[in-house]
Amino acid sequence: MPLSKRIEQVLAPIYKQRVPVIVLKGIKILVSLLPPVLTGNLLNNLNQYDGDRAFFYIGMIAAVLAVYFLLDWAQDYLWYRMEYIGTGIIRSYLFANVIRKSFLYHKDHSVGDLEGKVVHDAGIYAHAKISMMPMLFLNIIHILVILALLFSRDVPMTFATIAFSAIFFLLYKLINKHIRKATLREREGYSEVLTTTHETLAGVNTIQLYGEEEFFAHRFEKTVDKYEHFLINLRKWKGFALAANNKLVGLLPLVAVFVGLYLYRADIVIAGIGTIVTYYLLLPALVDPIKSLTEFSIDYQNARAVEGRLEELLADETQTNSKLEQIDKIQSLEFSNICYKYDDGTEVLWDVNFTVKPGDALAVVGPSGAGKTTFLRMLKRQLHPSWGQILINNKNHHLVDEKSYINRIAVLAQDIFVFDDSITANIKFGKDIPDAEIQRLAKICALDHLDLEDSATKLSGGERQRLGLARALACQYDVLILDEPTTELDAATETKIIQNLKAVQQENGCIFIVITHSQNVLDNLCNKSLTLSKPK
Ligand code: ADP
Repeated sequence: MPLSKRIEQVLAPIYKQRVPVIVLKGIKILVSLLPPVLTGNLLNNLNQYDGDRAFFYIGMIAAVLAVYFLLDWAQDYLWYRMEYIGTGIIRSYLFANVIRKSFLYHKDHSVGDLEGKVVHDAGIYAHAKISMMPMLFLNIIHILVILALLFSRDVPMTFATIAFSAIFFLLYKLINKHIRKATLREREGYSEVLTTTHETLAGVNTIQLYGEEEFFAHRFEKTVDKYEHFLINLRKWKGFALAANNKLVGLLPLVAVFVGLYLYRADIVIAGIGTIVTYYLLLPALVDPIKSLTEFSIDYQNARAVEGRLEELLADETQTNSKLEQIDKIQSLEFSNICYKYDDGTEVLWDVNFTVKPGDALAVVGPSGAGKTTFLRMLKRQLHPSWGQILINNKNHHLVDEKSYINRIAVLAQDIFVFDDSITANIKFGKDIPDAEIQRLAKICALDHLDLEDSATKLSGGERQRLGLARALACQYDVLILDEPTTELDAATETKIIQNLKAVQQENGCIFIVITHSQNVLDNLCNKSLTLSKPK
């Protein structure tokens, strides 16, 4: 489903709230037109009114202005409230998609780029999806009502106004193209600034250790300069559009009055002074809707520019496929003649074969660059074999519903992601696990000497690694992949962990797949081994 349809689905509750707010805005527009008309009538008929009637009329105009003020305030508050809530919904939706995107996608996209899209572009898109069409509708109604009122006063003067207004639109058509191109470049520049900020701050320790602060500050400055250039270019076109608009709208009453004077000459002072005043008061009221209409085209160009950028954030829709085999427990896992080639032609795995069953612990060994990480990604179905087949319970994995088993393969990755919360929360990692179970896991992973309510961010490298192990063991797994699980541990702790893992396996009969260089792990945990080597 395309982005715009999906967003319309998540915005459905906001769309329901829109109707009363649009009605309120419509009423505000109508009320705003009353004072100029009433003032014109008052002036046209002043010589027929006695003092009381004139004062009554003035009081009425003042009351209408007070109502207008309240309506204007209420609709502004409700409108922006709706837009902000909608922006939040879109951001959350996009973020939920981004964290489901494939490993390859994240490899290719920087954090800054994604942040720019989820945080900033989402705001522009929310405005477009929520406000753009109702605003267009309301602005057109606004202009039509003003023109109807003007026509009821004077036909030739109104025609002159319309003819002059058409000039705006022709002008805008000419500059829209530039605005769209400039917006796209500005968005890309913004993402680049975020990316540079992120990666530099993430590596600030290394930068300081090497004393290269100046180089990286300069690198940031260059990115910012580029962005500034894009921003200035965009402002040039936007400013041109808005300034042209302001000046042309300012000319409108003059054009109308000029035509009026030309047509009526002397009569105007005697019969139509109120009409001229109505024109003078109403025509500036055209400024806002015409401005909004021209901004509509800017918003529209912006929305189109960001829509393309946001479209690619959508995660593939993986659904449970009932036609495929469902798996409750992984009883065997087999690689048969597996080969893998990256898109750029790099051949990584070549004719990989093994079978593991409950109780097995397969050691995967090989030098750096041999394809151990690629192999791990394939086990989790983040990459698909270029050749050969993966068999789950003796069935080709294409015939098995991925959703039914993929979470039964738990992973202890090399990089342990720790977020700013307690050790307990970091082990639970979003799951609902009783505290007693957390304590049991902490003991297995030799973390029981720590206060589990302490912050996890202060842990040492070895403690982080054991926290990662506890997190993996907390999953409902049949297969546990351990990627270099003991690199940060001293020999005694490593031996203890190996013993504990063996006990876990005896208890639950799981399969271990262990990527390792440790002789201790090879000798004392694993009963099978697979050697990966770089293809020649
Ligand atoms: P290991 O984990 O054993 O060090 P990897 O699986 O990370 O090995 O990488 C194996 C080879 O594949 C390396 O030569 C690496 O450069 C290459 N490689 C890894 N990821 C990609 C990718 N996304 N595109 C192209 N080549 C890649």
